[in-house]
Amino acid sequence: MKKNYEFVIIGQGIAGTVLSWYLIEKNLNFLIINDPKKASSSSAALGVYNPITGKRFVETWKAKELINKTEKFYKKIENKLKTKILYKKNIYRPFHNNKNINDWQMKLESRTFKKYIKKLDIKSRYNLMNDDLGGIITKKSGYIDVTKFIKLSKKYLKSNNHYKEIKIHPNDIVIKKKFIEFDKIKTRNLIFCIGSDQNTNRFFSWLPFNLVKGETIDIEMKIRLKEIIQKSILIIPTNKNLYKIGSTYEWNDFENKNTIKGINELKNKISAILDSKYNIINKKFGIRPASKDRRAFVGFHPQYKNIGIINGLGSKGVSLAPYCAENLLENILKNKLIDNEINIKRYISLYS
Ligand SMILES: Cc1cc2nc3c(=O)[nH]c(=O)nc-3n(C[C@H](O)[C@H](O)[C@H](O)COP(=O)(O)OP(=O)(O)OC[C@H]3O[C@@H](n4cnc5c(N)ncnc54)[C@H](O)[C@@H]3O)c2cc1C
Repeated sequence: MKKNYEFVIIGQGIAGTVLSWYLIEKNLNFLIINDPKKASSSSAALGVYNPITGKRFVETWKAKELINKTEKFYKKIENKLKTKILYKKNIYRPFHNNKNINDWQMKLESRTFKKYIKKLDIKSRYNLMNDDLGGIITKKSGYIDVTKFIKLSKKYLKSNNHYKEIKIHPNDIVIKKKFIEFDKIKTRNLIFCIGSDQNTNRFFSWLPFNLVKGETIDIEMKIRLKEIIQKSILIIPTNKNLYKIGSTYEWNDFENKNTIKGINELKNKISAILDSKYNIINKKFGIRPASKDRRAFVGFHPQYKNIGIINGLGSKGVSLAPYCAENLLENILKNKLIDNEINIKRYISLYS
């Protein structure tokens, strides 16, 4: 006897977990399936959300809308889970050179950037930091404790009979006219949220992924930093003397572990900014499911209208997932159009 669902989500990383909370909110009948043996991208994520990104410090895509939605969404989940997962924190970016100071001084006058700038200082802010030229403090940023979010969400999903641990082989999926069936499960809608594994999955492997491996470390050090520090890496103060540090970007070597090269890169970048002793207490790695055009993948299979996808979240999973989940669900439930910039229809010419 098969169990019937309205929705089945495959993958409990950030994308699948966020979507499951939207389904809970709407009181829909669903199951989320996950293969726990894989090192997911979400398990390595630093969890930072930040309206100003990139080497040239540009306002990120739909920054205002996404940051508001992100904070509202994770606050709601904090209330549901009765625990803290969202930490609002400013970002301190020490200046590299005089041009960098000039650029930020100009940004101070710009309407776009003014709202994000808290303070520009041309003197050092911290002892033991290589910030002699001073730096800029920006606001409307923070981080999500992704590990806690995923772990406690899983516990909640399990206790409400929404969670099953298995690996789904796409070839076992049988598509009928109105239902999809596999492994004693029958569902009206199947949504793939399987991160970098989507690259080899028969339903959506035609989408142009641009996978990027990343490594992070957790360290313990005595120094006290108030803000997240960003200078070629992120240093995130989490708890007392604990910091998350990352990340590396590797496009060619996807070795399934942390590497000496990756860890050394992080160590070198820490010593370029901080003159402080520390102990590494944890190492992590993951493969970011990025897309060629740096936009998410949301939508439905060209042939099977009840097989959907949320993917391509790249290095912004925390802030993109609520927007993407809402887009997909509102399309299914209210027939609202999916944002063209994330709709996978933009790549229909690649499907054959
Ligand atoms: C080093 C690093 C640092 C990062 N830092 C940040 C950051 O600061 N801020 C930010 O917003 N983002 C960050 N990211 C990006 C973020 O991690 C990703 O955008 C996000 O985790 C993608 O989530 P996902 O759910 O799409 O994929 P994943 O997290 O990879 O989840 C996919 C899930 O699907 C499961 N799965 C796969 N195939 C199957 C199958 N056949 N059957 C069952 N289950 C299956 C996997 O086991 C996994 O649990 C970082 C990423 C890395 C690697």
